[in-house]
Order: sequence, then structure tokens, then C-alpha cells
Amino acid sequence: MSPRSLKLAKHKRLTAILACKTNLHIGGSKDDIEIGGLDSPVIRDQVSGRPYIPGSSLKGKLRSLLEYSEGKVQPNGNPCNCARDDCLVCTLFGPHLRPNHELGPTRIIVRDAHLAEESLPAMEALIEQGLRYTAAKTENMINRKTGTATNPRTQEIVPAGAKFDLTIHLRVFEGDPEADMVKFIQRGLEMLKSEYLGGSGTRGYGWVAVENLKIEDVP
Ligand SMILES: [Zn+2]
Repeated sequence: MSPRSLKLAKHKRLTAILACKTNLHIGGSKDDIEIGGLDSPVIRDQVSGRPYIPGSSLKGKLRSLLEYSEGKVQPNGNPCNCARDDCLVCTLFGPHLRPNHELGPTRIIVRDAHLAEESLPAMEALIEQGLRYTAAKTENMINRKTGTATNPRTQEIVPAGAKFDLTIHLRVFEGDPEADMVKFIQRGLEMLKSEYLGGSGTRGYGWVAVENLKIEDVP
């Protein structure tokens, strides 16, 4: 493949609803919560106070899934940095920690996913219960030697049923394999359905459905 032109031809936009099939926990800062609060709060928008899914979490998850599916993860576990112009991982997400390459800018832009409009009434009902759009779950850690429960931890969660608006923009430069790039992201979103977002995913949290996927050119 010849080197790509760095003329920006257009943007594509992928939108979908991320619907939580199980509880979701994406950690925020303890500094944001009141004293006597939870051990492990979720991340929240500073202005609205509503929980959201950071674009960085989504982008990282998509990259990791796609890299593993392509066998591009480096033997030491680091992300791909081959910077080959036929590597969709490096083209879309950027070669890992490699500032000098000829692929041009990162193509994918993953926006923060905020609570969907349709999800607000149910979530606002939680506020009436004093829960600020979220619920709390207390988990006991079992000491294996003694069999007793120690250190109960309270984790804040976004309850199953919450829906978030996903938006991904894709920069398409002249000469980019546009159809392959779109298909690649679609594949990542497809794999996400069998994976999880956030913490405690291997024990039930963060299972999301990807609904109502739309792909369009941005005029
Ligand atoms: Zn690569």
C-alpha cells in the first residue's frame, strides 16, 4: 500500500445505545464523594452529577478486543505499535507509545457516553430515594483460612437497565480503507457484547448490549 495522503476527506459517525444488561461499575474518584460515602464510587459528570462511560474506557476496550482478535498484542502484553500502513489497529487507534510514524492522526474518536434521554425517568426515580442515579452494593470478602467475612466493601453501581448514548467519530483521510475501518469498529462493538465494560466484569458486572447501531457520513 502506498503512503496515505493526509488530506481529510470526511468524518463518519457511528451511534448506538449501550444498554446495561447487568450492573455496571466504572470507578471514579473518592474525592468527589461525601465523607462517610462509598469505598468505590462510580465516575460522574461534574456538571450534571450523572454517571457516564468515559470515551477512554470504551476506546481502550475496543482496542484491546480488536488487538487480541487480530493477534496483534505484543508478546509482553503491550498494545501494537507496528505502525504498518496495513495495520488497522495502529491506523485507527495509533501505534502504542510511538510518536514517530507515517500513519497520520489517530482515526477514531470515542466520545464520553452519557445517560440516554429514555433512561432518565427511571434513573431519576433513584434520586427520589436519595441514590443519585446509582445504587450501592456491599460485598463481603471471605477469608479463605478462617472462612469468615472481612472488610465489607461498598461499591457504587449503575443499575442494570441504564442506557447510554454511544458516539464514535471516524476521520477518513484520502486513501484510507474506509469500508474496512468501519467494519473493524463494528467487529469490536460486536465482540463487546460478549465482554464487559468497567470493573468486576468476570463476575457479572458491565455486560452491555449494543443497540440501534447507525453509521452515517457527516456532512
Ligand atoms: Zn500495528
